[in-house]
Amino acid sequence: MNPRQLKLFQRLLTERRQELLDEAGRTVGGMTDSKENFPDPTDRASLESNRNAMLRIRDRERKLIAKIDEALTRIEDESYGLCESCGGPIGLNRLKARPVTTLCIDCKSDQESQERRQRGY
Ligand SMILES: [Zn+2]
Repeated sequence: MNPRQLKLFQRLLTERRQELLDEAGRTVGGMTDSKENFPDPTDRASLESNRNAMLRIRDRERKLIAKIDEALTRIEDESYGLCESCGGPIGLNRLKARPVTTLCIDCKSDQESQERRQRGY
């Protein structure tokens, strides 16, 4: 991958990371607000499940941010865009669709069919 392409993905990933951080900030704000607004037990129960849903979302966001950080590190050491498994290029279109991916499409589908076999489908 050439330096111009690396820069492009660096910008893309940095922007995505910032978006996630902004969303995470809003989620925390929403949690504090709704606590005040639902005093009775039924509402508290639904608040509780809302909160669990939010925590799951935040957990996913946190993992995605970690993946973005890893991708940014790979951009810095210029290993970005190479498949972790076979070492071949991942392909620009695949990276544009999923910039944090570490596997080329062939290795990814191998991995998926292996997972399906392990689950017994
Ligand atoms: Zn591969």
